[in-house]
Order: sequence, then C-alpha cells, then structure tokens
Amino acid sequence: MRVKLSQNFLKDRAVAVQCVESLGLTKNELVLEIGPGKGILTRLLLEQAKEVIAVEIDPNLYCFLQHELKSYKNFTLLQGDFLELPWNKIVSNQSKVKIIGNLPYAVVSPILQKILAWDHWTALVVMVQKEVGERILSQSGSKKYGILSISVQTKAHAEKLFSVSKNCFKPVPQVESSMLRFFPLKHPLLEKKDEEHFFKVVRAAFMHRRKTILNSLIFSLNCSSEILKSALAQAQIFYERRAETLSLEEFKNLSLILQSTLHYENSK
Ligand code: SAM
Repeated sequence: MRVKLSQNFLKDRAVAVQCVESLGLTKNELVLEIGPGKGILTRLLLEQAKEVIAVEIDPNLYCFLQHELKSYKNFTLLQGDFLELPWNKIVSNQSKVKIIGNLPYAVVSPILQKILAWDHWTALVVMVQKEVGERILSQSGSKKYGILSISVQTKAHAEKLFSVSKNCFKPVPQVESSMLRFFPLKHPLLEKKDEEHFFKVVRAAFMHRRKTILNSLIFSLNCSSEILKSALAQAQIFYERRAETLSLEEFKNLSLILQSTLHYENSK
C-alpha cells in the first residue's frame, strides 16, 4: 500500500453503489473518475454511463485495471497525476462531465480547486476525510470555516450525503470519511476577473486567525492601517471582528472596496 497515494480501497459494495447512485447518471453521460484504484466504483460507473474516463497515478494499478476492464468499450484509462494533466488531455472541452472520486486525502484541496476552476463539470461526488468535509461545509462563525470553505462555497453548492466508516476500507485507514456532493452554482459569488484579488484578501484575513481582521490584514497586505480601517468601515465590518466571522458576501464587499481603493491609491 502506498500511503502517500491514500491507497485505502473501498471494499463495501453497498457504499460503492450509494456513491455512484448519488451522481444520478444517465446512459448518455460522460463520467470522470479520479483515482479508480482497483475499480470498485469504476465497474458500477461503466454499467451506468455512456463513457467513463479514469485517471490513475499508480502504474501498477493502471496495468491491473487496464487488464481487468479490457472488455468495456466505453472505458478510457489514463495513467498520470490528475493534478498535472491538463484538462484537454483528460477530456474534450466541449463535453459536460460528472466527476467522482474516493480522493487521496493529502491532495483533496488542490483537486477540488482544479475542478471548481473548470467550467464543464455538472456534478461531483467525492469521498473525503470527515474533518475535511466539515471544513468544506462550515459556515461563518465556525472555527472550521476558512479558505477551503470559502473557495468551495463561492463556486458550488456542497452537501454531505452520508458518513463512511473506516471499516469499509482495506487497509483500514486511521480516519473516518464523508461522502459529499457538489453542484456548480448557476451564479457564482464572483466574476472571474475579481477572483484573484478576493482570494488575496481572504488568505490575508486568515493568515493570523487569532488576530482581529484589521490586524491580520495589516500584517499580510501591503497596505496602511488608515486605508484598511476605511475599507472595513465602508463594508460595514467592525475592525475588531475575526476573519472566521465574515460571511462570503462581506468578504466580497471588502475585497471589491479594497480593490478600487488600492487601484485609486496606486494611480495617484
Ligand atoms: N477509487 C478506489 C476505491 O474507492 O477503492 C481507490 C481509492 S484510493 C483512496 C485513491 C486512489 O487514487 C488510489 O488508487 C491512488 O493510487 C489514486 N491517486 C492518488 N493520487 C492521485 C493523483 N494525484 N491522480 C490520480 N490518482 C491518484
């Protein structure tokens, strides 16, 4: 078992069936699986979808699965790191794709970022470590609310479907899991052009979680206390609040105000 690749294989067929059913596949849909492993989900997907594309990083599992599933004409298996492969090497950009994965826990966050930044997915079902699921779903006011929650919730509706016991895997991992489902928001919180600055502000705000929002921004953004205080006031955010209490809308307002203030300051 290669620990770094999170090779804890799902052995419970009932859980596998529930995962695949929650994608709501029809016979004319394309599905992408990240990390098919020994293929417990893949086999079910192949029966339900028009076409299945899977990306597996481990060359041994790639050979194993290529051999095991060779009779399926609707299957394409790619060998490589999902994070390294450009989208156009995985799937044609014209296609709408549903995505599923029992994700390698160490790289859940970058995998989600890659999917959320892409415009062609229509539903996503993933198994993640329970604590990561809680961070993704957390709302403002919670200690678990942070960059991961915000980066997901600005672009997708996310929900927990069910918990998965560690005894459903072989070898048994140390952590419990949750199955989550995501749908892209019809109207994402931000326009693409504003995303970079928004996340710069969010990262700066959470850089020093225990400090007030004002102090955290002073430490992390190259910006004077006066400008920040004025931007916070305009956004109606009391400067002694902590980053974890700000809603998505408040972060958006603050980021837009700061963006135009800094633009104005730089042009003086
Ligand atoms: N889907 C299978 C299951 O449910 O039993 C395997 C799940 S196992 C937790 C994670 C799988 O993802 C492993 O097969 C591992 O080799 C593969 N993997 C890990 N990192 C990957 C990456 N960056 N790109 C593609 N596959 C990856």
